[in-house]
This record gives sequence, structure tokens and C-alpha cells, in this order.
Amino acid sequence: MIHASASRRVGFLLALLCCPLVAAAADEEKKADPPNIVILFADDLGYGDLGCFGHPTIATPNLDRMAREGLRLTQFYVAECVCTPSRAALLTGRLPIRNGMCSDTKRVLFTDSLGGLPEGEITIADTLKGKGYATACVGKWHLGHLPQFLPTRQGFDSYYGIPYSNDMKPTVLLRGATVIEDPADQTTLTKRYTAEAVSFIRQNRDQPFFLYMPHNFPHVPLFASDDFKDKSLRGLYGGVVEELDWSVGQVLDTLRELELDKKTLVFFTSDNGPWLIKNRNGGSAGLLRGGKGSTWEGGMREPTIAWWPGTIPAGGVSRELGCTTDLLATISALVDAPLPDDRVLDSYDLGPVLLGKGESPRKSMLYYRGRKLMAARLGPWKAHFMTQAGYRQANPEVHDPPLLFHLEHDPSEKYNVAKDHPDVIADIRKLVSEHEANLNAPPSQMEIRQTGSTRASANRGSRRFTRRTSSERAARGK
Ligand code: MG
Repeated sequence: MIHASASRRVGFLLALLCCPLVAAAADEEKKADPPNIVILFADDLGYGDLGCFGHPTIATPNLDRMAREGLRLTQFYVAECVCTPSRAALLTGRLPIRNGMCSDTKRVLFTDSLGGLPEGEITIADTLKGKGYATACVGKWHLGHLPQFLPTRQGFDSYYGIPYSNDMKPTVLLRGATVIEDPADQTTLTKRYTAEAVSFIRQNRDQPFFLYMPHNFPHVPLFASDDFKDKSLRGLYGGVVEELDWSVGQVLDTLRELELDKKTLVFFTSDNGPWLIKNRNGGSAGLLRGGKGSTWEGGMREPTIAWWPGTIPAGGVSRELGCTTDLLATISALVDAPLPDDRVLDSYDLGPVLLGKGESPRKSMLYYRGRKLMAARLGPWKAHFMTQAGYRQANPEVHDPPLLFHLEHDPSEKYNVAKDHPDVIADIRKLVSEHEANLNAPPSQMEIRQTGSTRASANRGSRRFTRRTSSERAARGK
């Protein structure tokens, strides 16, 4: 016979012994029921353009709520300061210099470009497809508009969107590889992207899904629907951002309504900093220096929010380092998918940061502009070997010794302290030389030159898409 207090002790000991089993069972359950993944990606939104990142007059109640319910990341980067290479990096977990998606002369892909993201690259969509996820890309692709480069060749089941920037002609709207509108009506674009995204979530509510939603805005030219265009204190730019905020709200509300919010990681960020040369039609990097096209902080540090109610602690702020290239490793770990082992990745698992359980494994950042490594960050320190202001400066200014800033003391990069810290510069030079020793950069996809015969066909860019026949258009009343 066991005495009652002894019985309680035995029970307690048994519970202790079982704890690892319970934790392991919870882990197994998570793997058996992996989260949905949603990536919301703005275009040219600046670090200072959201209410929850300090903008005084742009109203972003949905993103502000997302931040209150999730995690704001204040030292989160993209891998390049313009559209095409930044997107290539996010999807592949690799610096663009490793997959050919960067160039010093053609900074992004254009409508006469013949290259694109090589099919051999492994994207987040490929990874999740391999785990049985439904996958959709809704929005701006900009990783090659020829048929062999479109999203459906890179792990996505479906595609709906403008395949490049909204200032490029012809500004066609595609479904799959078929043009369904030319030119696309951009005033309703954000609304239609949103409807498409919501519909995809509803259709796949009973299975794991991956939604990659790269918006075309607030890249210029700016368009907003009648509901938003004249409403913001910040003028048309503010209206465009406020419509994006509304779109985020629609996506999150759909997840809440379907009771998928606790099963879905939603990640919001931007592809590069604000396009400052567009003056009032461009955004703001807040207190950060520079913008789109430059490797100052304003070009590459982004307003970032991660949301997963019940898993990511609410209302947090992380000042740990992270980069869009880390999403591949982070998501792969969450869904228990293997990482590619036949190539160099620039991807760290940020799980500990998102779950509030530890430090970021990322301790450094490399700042590329095209094929040039312009700057490097190690811990709080950033050394600029070269600087180039935005878009229009012809050649970079070389700095030897490099400029050195302590980004946590001096986030605006105002006070060069290089002469006081030669040891820090030596450490950063070592980081760079180790990176360059293992770099086998392939030729640029963006510099594929058009010969006489290819130029003629490339100049017929719009004809390279499949188009609806006149009877199909008539049937749809267009
Ligand atoms: Mg952009």
C-alpha cells in the first residue's frame, strides 16, 4: 500500500519523467500539422512608412495590429537594394551573386531581358511543394517574364499578377502564362490581388498552403482605388500604402475567420528602401540614411513584422539581425524540410528569434549593389568600402580605409569612427575575404546580351506571352 503523499510524489516523478515525452509529442504533432506560410512583400516601401515604424501621417491600423499581436523586427534586411535581385534572394535563400540575378549595368530585369531565375534554383515554393503544400504567387514576379522563368516553373501551382514592375511596358496582367489584361488597370490592382489571395486561402483551408504575395506598390507610378486615393493625410503615396494596409487586414481577417490564424505564419516586409528620387511619390526611410539603389541602411533595412498568434509572442520587438535570405532555412525548419546541400546558402534559421527563445544565428550582413560588395556589417559595426547614392550616381566612391559606423549607436550613419577602431575594420576585412574566397559567381542572367536575331524577338516582348483569342475575349465581355 502506498501512502497518499508518497503517491503524489510518485505521480510528480512520473510527470517529470514524461515531460520530454510530452514535449517530443508536441514537436511531432507540429511536424505532422505544419503551419501555413504567407509572405506579404511590399515594393519600395521605406523603413519609416508604417505607423508602427513611426510614420506620423500614414494610417496603417492593420499592420499596427499585426505588430501588436506579433513581432516587429527592427534590424531586418534584404539582400539587395533593388527589385529583381532582392526577390531572387528571398525565394532562394542565396545572395544574388550566387545565382546570377544581379548586374552592375542592368540593375533589374526589363521587358526585353532574356534571362531569369535559373530553373535549377530551389525556391521556398519548391521546398513547400515537396512537403505537399498548395502554393500560389499573387503579384509582382520580376524574376523573368519568359515562359521558362515564370512562377509556375519555380514551385508555384498558380500565378496571377504583373510579371515585372508596374512602370514597364507592356504592363500586362497574367494568369499563369496567359495575358488576361493589357494594359492592366492599376487602380484596382491591389483590390484584385487581395481578392485572389483571399480566394486561394479559402480554397485551401483544409490543407497546408504557401501564399507568396509580392505587391506592385508603392512602386511608382502610384495608383489606388477610389476608396483610398484621396483619403490619406500623406497624399497619394499615403493612400497607396493605406490600401496595402487594408489588404493585409483582409488576409489576416480571413485567417481569423477560418480559424487558421493559430496555424499560419505571416511575414510582412519590403523588397528595398524608398525610391527617394521620386520625391513626394517616393517613401521615407525614417531615420535611416539613403534609399532604394544604395547600400546605406535606408536602401536595405526594411519594416518587418512576423505574426503567428499563439506561437510568436505578442507585442514583441526583436533587434536581432535577420535577412530575407533567412526565410528559406527558417521555413524549412518549421516544416521539417531538408535544405539543399549541393550549393552554398546564405540562410540562417531565425526560429529562436521568432519564437522569443534566443539570439539570431546571423551575426553579419553583406551589402551588395549589383556584383559589387559595397559594405559589410559585423555585430553592430558596418564598414563601407564603397558608397553610391541611389540610382543616378555613375560610379561608386571608394573608401580606403573604409567608413565605419556603429549602427546601434548611430543608425543614421552620420559619424565615421574608422580611425578609432582599426581592429574592427580588420575583423570585417577578414569576414569579407573569407566570403570572397568561396564565391563562385556565375555569369549574370541580367547581362545576357541580345544579338541581332534575338533583339527582334525580344522587342516583341508582349507577343511572347500567350494571349486570349478574340473569341475568348468576347466570351468574357472584354
Ligand atoms: Mg522594389
